[in-house]
Amino acid sequence: MISARDSYEGLRAAHLDAVQGALQDHVGRVEWSREQIEHHQTQRLRSLLAYAKQRSPFHARRLSGIDPSVMTAAGLAGVPMMTKAQAQDEWDDIVTVADLTRDGAERILASQLWFSYTPNDQQVFSSGGSSGVRGVYVWDWHFFVSIACLAWRLQAREERTAPHAHARLAVLAAGMPPHASTPLFDVPTAPGMETAVIPAGAPLADTIAAVAAAKPTHLVGYATVVGQLARACLAGQLDIRPVRVSTNSEPLLDEDRRAIREAWDAPVHNLWGSTEIGVQAVGCARGDGLHVCEDEVVLERVDENGAPVGPDEPAARTLATGLANLTFPFIRYDLGDQVDWLPGRCACGSAFARVADIGGRRDDDFRYGAATIPASVFRHVLGTDPRVSEYQVHQTLRGADVLTVGAPDCETLAAALAAALRRHGLSDPEVEIRVVERLQRHESTGKLKRFVPLD
Ligand SMILES: [Zn+2]
Repeated sequence: MISARDSYEGLRAAHLDAVQGALQDHVGRVEWSREQIEHHQTQRLRSLLAYAKQRSPFHARRLSGIDPSVMTAAGLAGVPMMTKAQAQDEWDDIVTVADLTRDGAERILASQLWFSYTPNDQQVFSSGGSSGVRGVYVWDWHFFVSIACLAWRLQAREERTAPHAHARLAVLAAGMPPHASTPLFDVPTAPGMETAVIPAGAPLADTIAAVAAAKPTHLVGYATVVGQLARACLAGQLDIRPVRVSTNSEPLLDEDRRAIREAWDAPVHNLWGSTEIGVQAVGCARGDGLHVCEDEVVLERVDENGAPVGPDEPAARTLATGLANLTFPFIRYDLGDQVDWLPGRCACGSAFARVADIGGRRDDDFRYGAATIPASVFRHVLGTDPRVSEYQVHQTLRGADVLTVGAPDCETLAAALAAALRRHGLSDPEVEIRVVERLQRHESTGKLKRFVPLD
């Protein structure tokens, strides 16, 4: 009998071959003119809207007054915004296939022992996301091929001009379900490249040992973890010399970028993505900022109400429309992050528009003396527990008080969180987790402050 793991690996190999096949087309797209990019984007947008209108009751309602056949990116302003809460609350109305429901997706997450494919080649993931509300997401076969190409085409372009014999990619990612980071980043970008997945959540000493053993020529991983590895090299605790570095999932802090430059002087491709849209923008390592994946994603900078703002005006939100995910369409989806366009053509020659480096919500970091705990550490643990529907983290002198809505196993969750805090340099953290009926929202705005630092 074929085990579930063998079955997954077999399909995964087929999927990776599909990515390699599509990558050549995507590398070519990087050289597209503005006209080519915009023509492709418009056609794909019309296709997505027409499809979603037929197959998704949720989108049919929102698109009722829209004629997809004449739609352009600018015309999207007439479509309502889509919020994270809507995406999760109205899941069964959004999904475009008859055989998948939110309950069914939850059953897959609860029962799978490893990553898996549904009988119709979909993959189900869960993430804490930037807002802190747990989300469940489905990626279909073609969507994965698209976003794997978006994540890797700029690196692949460079690999073609300077091929590296015996390339080995160390992948610092979650390393396990339900996070999508491992399947997306465990992708070879050059012929013959080997990959090794190293769980980024392990104690730092273990991670360093695993990276040393992997002898990588290329690195990809969470920005803070790659930063820690660079500092370990500078401190003489690790001896690797990656020729190319890719960072993702967290804002790339200046101090980490500096450490990477000092340790390895390697080109850095920073990626801005989300489990919903996949990949929004990637850095080319030659010019500033990140190239927006305009062929597969429409980005809009808008005000509080979803009305577009000019390139030089401040924006309250960034909306994304993912053109490749037909199974679970995100149309004018509120990403939460704020971005700024960069003017001018990039030094790499690509005509794809750029956004400035994503600073992220650094206000959400907690500082304890010399240790800084990024909010993503809390999100990573709290945001993927299916028994936690919402949470709020209050910084304390030696750790955190966490209020949760739901029915978590508080003791186990507190231990997992304490372990994560220790890994990030907080010794003897004190974590308390309490279950509450509801979370206190801001009196006037109604917003929830997810991370409340010490005064
Ligand atoms: Zn560029």
